[in-house]
Amino acid sequence: MTNLETAPSQEVCPAGHPGQGPCVQLWPSRDVPLGGVRNMTVSRTLPQRGLPTVGAWCFLDSFGPDRVAMGVLPHPHMGLQTVTWPLLGEVRHRDSVGSDVVVRPGQLNIMTAGRGISHSEFAVLPAGLHLNAPDGSALLPLSRGLQLWVALPDAVRHRTPSFQQIVDLPVVATDSFRATVLVGEFAGQRSPAIMYSPIVGADISASGAVELPLNPVFEHAVLVLDGSAVIEGQTVDPGPLAFLGTGRESLRLEATPGTRFMLLGGEPFEEDILMWWNFVGRTHEEVEKAREDWEAQALLGEDDARVARFGLINGHGPDAGAEAGRIPAPPMPGVQLKPRTRNRAGE
Ligand code: MN
Repeated sequence: MTNLETAPSQEVCPAGHPGQGPCVQLWPSRDVPLGGVRNMTVSRTLPQRGLPTVGAWCFLDSFGPDRVAMGVLPHPHMGLQTVTWPLLGEVRHRDSVGSDVVVRPGQLNIMTAGRGISHSEFAVLPAGLHLNAPDGSALLPLSRGLQLWVALPDAVRHRTPSFQQIVDLPVVATDSFRATVLVGEFAGQRSPAIMYSPIVGADISASGAVELPLNPVFEHAVLVLDGSAVIEGQTVDPGPLAFLGTGRESLRLEATPGTRFMLLGGEPFEEDILMWWNFVGRTHEEVEKAREDWEAQALLGEDDARVARFGLINGHGPDAGAEAGRIPAPPMPGVQLKPRTRNRAGE
């Protein structure tokens, strides 16, 4: 268990500007209970006070491996893309643009919320196994994965919502590493994922000394999933996010055998964003409006024209049994929400 908002262990970047120049900073993860009937705890490394984004990556949760059956009822998103990368287990995704797909390890789900979308996510369990079986928890398959969000730039954040599943991602294999390119371009291979800012995300397996080509304009970060990597003298184990700054043509690291890590990067995201619950906005008022629109769906009924913003999801109607219902928005805080700004001197 790590502490909330602990200061980074090392500061090599120019003071107050983590996006300028190369560095190695370890930002600790924090354990966050997601609540609900089947409580699930995730390890969250973005956002952090002082490091709200890496490129446009604005949210990074890692969960498992654990025998927890994900069951997330319909909930809304706005102003972001969700990037779902399962490492173990299968998840059924349904959303308000009509998608109903199972995502498996090696496959990628990207949901572009734009002005508003809603979705649900349920673990796919072996036939005959029911979540509410008295001893079901002991029988559940292991599940593990990453849930990431990407902030949409202002020019496109009100766009029509959409969904993309990619089952065949490009892979770069060399003598020293094997990389699956989730989004953007890495080592000459480009993912077909439709993204809205210069960005990269890759799942990389490596052993021994490795040199990875990088875009020097981007800032980068590494999240170790398995094994351990030494980057410029700092050992990076599973848990914290290693922020690497900008200005790197390549990254040299020394990986123990069987090391696996996520490489995330992008052009530093210069817009100040306001993140609250499942929304990425710019002002308190627009986030409040999104919350009201989601809550209106419960108050007005799903067929009222005024609830069209976040749409409907097939399979979650009143007859859906354990899958009926929705996640209500939490109350807004009593104070005005303020945008998360990049680390500045004096803060
Ligand atoms: Mn979601």
